[in-house]
Amino acid sequence: MISRIDLRGTPGDPRDLLPRAELDIEAATAKVRPICDDVRHRGVEALIELTERFDGVRLDDIRVPPAAIDSALAELDPAVRTGLEHSIQRARKVHADQRRTDSVTQVVPGGTVTERWVPVGRVGLYVPGGRAVYPSSVVMNAVPAQEAGVGSLAVASPPQADFGGLPHPTVLAACALLGIDEVYAVGGAQAVAMFAYGAGECARADMVTGPGNIWVAAAKRLLKGVIGIDAEAGPTEIAIIADDTADPGYVAADLISQAEHDVIAASVLVTPSTELADKVEAELAERVPATKHSERVAEALGGRQSGIVLVDDLDQGIAAVDAYAAEHLEIMTADASAVAARVRNAGAVFVGDFAPVSLGDYCAGSNHVLPTGGSAHHSSGLSVQTFLRGIHVVEYDRAALAEIAPSVVALAEAEDLPAHGEAVSARVGRTEGAAR
Ligand code: NAD
Repeated sequence: MISRIDLRGTPGDPRDLLPRAELDIEAATAKVRPICDDVRHRGVEALIELTERFDGVRLDDIRVPPAAIDSALAELDPAVRTGLEHSIQRARKVHADQRRTDSVTQVVPGGTVTERWVPVGRVGLYVPGGRAVYPSSVVMNAVPAQEAGVGSLAVASPPQADFGGLPHPTVLAACALLGIDEVYAVGGAQAVAMFAYGAGECARADMVTGPGNIWVAAAKRLLKGVIGIDAEAGPTEIAIIADDTADPGYVAADLISQAEHDVIAASVLVTPSTELADKVEAELAERVPATKHSERVAEALGGRQSGIVLVDDLDQGIAAVDAYAAEHLEIMTADASAVAARVRNAGAVFVGDFAPVSLGDYCAGSNHVLPTGGSAHHSSGLSVQTFLRGIHVVEYDRAALAEIAPSVVALAEAEDLPAHGEAVSARVGRTEGAAR
């Protein structure tokens, strides 16, 4: 069911040998372009038509009435409410520690540069809701935005035919717990376009964040620039590096847990132990048919994006997971903390037997909106920093400017931009552009 890739005796960069979904984001981008253009030109009318086409729901209004948000919280299962409250409390604790303070650097007497951290003004938070519903993503989007001080937050999540065309009630209840009352029953690429261009009651946003399927990821890539985006957080991935000390039951359970998200979710085990590989396969054979979403899980595990990768030793294993740059990386080895310290590329790292990805999905305090598709090579998960911009504020007095004027003039002349130098000379008098 799950394929094996044998990297043993294959030195060098394994990037092209590792399993990875061939997500044709270019083709998806071509498909979402007319969707985004339609929303841009026809606003709410387009949103209503697209929602009927893709979600099978005919909306009267895209905005969720505040009373529906309140009643979703009133009717929420108490155990789920407690779970969400724990998730919010722990995420808040971690994200509050990420807040940044302004720094003031005195470059010279009379010359300072202050780095001021300013929150983005208005943010659209995308909460997926196609195959599964993600109230946890409301928490993971909203908490860092709130801790950063974002003034205006709106949520978009696909309407559910089973719930009268509203987003899932648990998503609405999570919004209520977080004090968010601006919610739209819109999903997919059209939701990203709604935030980028504005439509009806939804004012255009400065930024859109949150995970989603390939259509959401393609729309974010397409509209980047019109609107700010976070890292591309597409179909889920788990990589596990494990040796023969790992519990095969834990490994199999965790591979299945992420495969449950999507038929194109990726579950990858990297191990130097053929014995562990055999045991994990046996566990999968037993557990997959018994799990609730067994068809989806079997398709994801059997896809070319998933596999068991055999390596010579942990050194080659670490090189392999670094090359893969998983959204989630679990480490189940004899000295898991030491292995974790050597990892350079991953969205989030889960160390040892008792930190499964599911803990991070909901209640570890860490953020679950993480870079996928190898983008952990250069990007981070959602954090307070995502919602802040650093503005340099430059203050120099006349003497401080005069002191550095010759260097500014010399550089301006070297770039054949003499008016730049003249803007300085106009203040401090003519100066030769020669080095002193
Ligand atoms: P979704 O909300 O992302 O997408 C549903 C929307 O897709 C629908 O509302 C519909 O408008 C649109 N759509 C469906 N078919 C379409 C088509 N043929 N053309 C254009 N638009 C279409 O929900 P989902 O599908 O359940 O996907 C959620 C994804 O988010 C999963 O892949 C999951 O793995 C991922 N996820 C990632 C993270 C992360 O941090 N990386 C976290 C949670 C979830």
